[in-house]
Amino acid sequence: MLSWQSNFPVLGKTSRIMRIRKNRTPVVAAFSSPHIHQRSLRYAVLGAGFAGLSVAWHLLEPSPIELHVRVDVLDEIGIGGGASGVAGGLLHLYSPKVKLLWLAAKCWEETLRLLSIAETNNGVLNQNSNVFVARRKGILRPVVSLKNMSVMSDNAQNSLASCRIRSIDEDAARSLVPNIALPSNLAFYMPDAVNIHHQVYLEALYLACETLAKETSSVGLGEKEINFHISLN
Ligand SMILES: Cc1cc2nc3c(=O)[nH]c(=O)nc-3n(C[C@H](O)[C@H](O)[C@H](O)COP(=O)(O)OP(=O)(O)OC[C@H]3O[C@@H](n4cnc5c(N)ncnc54)[C@H](O)[C@@H]3O)c2cc1C
Repeated sequence: MLSWQSNFPVLGKTSRIMRIRKNRTPVVAAFSSPHIHQRSLRYAVLGAGFAGLSVAWHLLEPSPIELHVRVDVLDEIGIGGGASGVAGGLLHLYSPKVKLLWLAAKCWEETLRLLSIAETNNGVLNQNSNVFVARRKGILRPVVSLKNMSVMSDNAQNSLASCRIRSIDEDAARSLVPNIALPSNLAFYMPDAVNIHHQVYLEALYLACETLAKETSSVGLGEKEINFHISLN
């Protein structure tokens, strides 16, 4: 068994991946070569937050069946030990001024896909309980500053069809949040936005990685494996 301290250089504080060849004998680069019986790849993912577990999933999911892949996730605290573990869980595509974020459409599509994978595995993890990964009731953003009102209204015109923004007045807002007061009589309602329970999501996504590794190992030639380690600095 390899020891982390001696064999894995730790690069830095944010989630990064390092690709490490386990087998140092020369290998042919093309996966389709008939001469390759088994290639072995070993990855270390530093940080078990939203980024790290997403990376772990994306290392396992597309890997060819003949490849032996081992992913080790390291975190000094635990799954969700950093910012991901305290996040409010508000999930949408817009800046505080409701401007569409960079690569929003692609990120939204992929995030919803990971969310649905986590939800499927949460069903296994929390059978017969009301523990949820996500609430889908939309998000309401009241306009609190008149200064930014026109900029926000312009930005809201450019919302994405898959994550819409509706401008609504106080009466309409009260049908969603009783007794809410809107000083500018304007709020932006994102009906497709989601609220994530961060810890449930992360645990379910880690389980999804384990399940995927087991399932692909049972049908392929190469084994897939994921392990979690508390790392010491
Ligand atoms: C209070 C708060 C509320 C937020 N609310 C929202 C929200 O509602 N919606 C939203 O989209 N975003 C929100 N965010 C931002 C969001 O939480 C972060 O953008 C996101 O969690 C970043 O994920 P990450 O995986 O990159 O980092 P992290 O979750 O911080 O993961 C990094 C991990 O690396 C580990 N680590 C660090 N250094 C080392 C080391 N040397 N060795 C081993 N492990 C190490 C840490 O323990 C940690 O678990 C919020 C942030 C905060 C702080």
